[in-house]
Amino acid sequence: NIEYSCLNPFVKGRSMVTSLNDSPSPAYICPNDMACSNLDRAAQILRLDPGVVEVLGTPHRVLTVSVPVRMDNGRIRVFAGHRVQHCNVLGPYKGGMRYHPDVTLREVSTLAMLMTWKCALMGIPYGGAKGGIAVNPTTLSVGELERLTRRFTSELVRDIGPQIDIPAPDVGTGPREMAWMMDTYSMSIGHASPGVVTGKPLSIGGSKGRDAATGRGVVIATREALDTAGLALRGATIAIQGFGKVGKAAALIFQQHGARVIALSDGSGGIYNPDGLDIEQAADFVRDGSRLAQYPFPGVKPIANPELLTLPCDVLVPAALEHQITEANAARVRARLVVEAANAPTTMEADRILEERGVTVLPDILANAGGVVVSYLEWVQGLSYLFWDEEKVNLELEKLMVGAYARVLQQATQFRLPLRPAAYTLAVGRVVEAFNHRGLYP
Ligand code: GLU
Repeated sequence: NIEYSCLNPFVKGRSMVTSLNDSPSPAYICPNDMACSNLDRAAQILRLDPGVVEVLGTPHRVLTVSVPVRMDNGRIRVFAGHRVQHCNVLGPYKGGMRYHPDVTLREVSTLAMLMTWKCALMGIPYGGAKGGIAVNPTTLSVGELERLTRRFTSELVRDIGPQIDIPAPDVGTGPREMAWMMDTYSMSIGHASPGVVTGKPLSIGGSKGRDAATGRGVVIATREALDTAGLALRGATIAIQGFGKVGKAAALIFQQHGARVIALSDGSGGIYNPDGLDIEQAADFVRDGSRLAQYPFPGVKPIANPELLTLPCDVLVPAALEHQITEANAARVRARLVVEAANAPTTMEADRILEERGVTVLPDILANAGGVVVSYLEWVQGLSYLFWDEEKVNLELEKLMVGAYARVLQQATQFRLPLRPAAYTLAVGRVVEAFNHRGLYP
């Protein structure tokens, strides 16, 4: 049973999934959407032409493809695969591919728009995109996952490419899926094309440092923001929600820099020790698929996910999924700094509450940009056939993160804005400037 989606997933008050026979609706911005409301706020500050705002509030291309897969039991199952290409004013569309049961076209659209602002803010020559399939990848065999990924990729062959749209890992995908995508794309065009995806294994043109890049960027951004507040990273107390690719790398690097990670969690629950956790031990423990709720070592107190968000600490790092800090818990957040390692972990209402309470929020489009930054570095290395050592990759990442943080802080100070609207005005302003230079085609 395939669901087809209407052209504009931001349309207000309309079901996102309509039948194939529905005529495409005109494009309107949904003011209730988090990404659009941040765009609107930036547009007001920048006094943008409403027509241009409407262009930027509407994804350029919305693709939903049917992905039939022969399962191991011999039956065919049909998945819906989405790819939303939000904007390519600054360069090829860029963004991850998510495999998670909660994936919807609407979510993918919001995340695609976030990628546009993230790339613009970081000053890298990309537009924004996102893709995904509503699937729990842990319930599929490796063979099923490979067939799913290859068929999805082959459905998108004409729509992706090193100069068109460059997928990357996101929740539920990693180097293995990127290798399958790269191979499927390469086989259908007739030659190896490593530049079509980033986040690849090293042996086929991946970059050193890409695995830990998002987490490393989170630590760099946190260090800069603490420094602005007159605090040091060394000794700072950190609570991290999510122990996946991003949360784990961030936790390890925080610990290496002398910060005290006091709480960690995954989907099963979490662990807490106000004196600091042993991150290597925790990473070792989950390596074989174990969950933190079963953590057997002494000296830690089990905690539930909601509890983690309201622990007393210097820095709260939501590193899991969207909408974790909400109206219901924002008033109880006791961190002084929230660093958005996940995309869109704070709802609009929660953002307002945190703003009123004077909690600094380091927005996702800055805080978690390390991943796409090193994706860019991977793409550049591939295009130039020259590969760097990890030190050089990390140095470039450091430069781009520090530079972006400084620009956001300067914007926030100059216009008396919180960091999120400061980042948005810079990002949206950059895209609009390029849009105006290029002009509206035809
Ligand atoms: N999925 C990551 C993000 O949300 C990385 C995207 C990329 O490297 O293109 O930023």
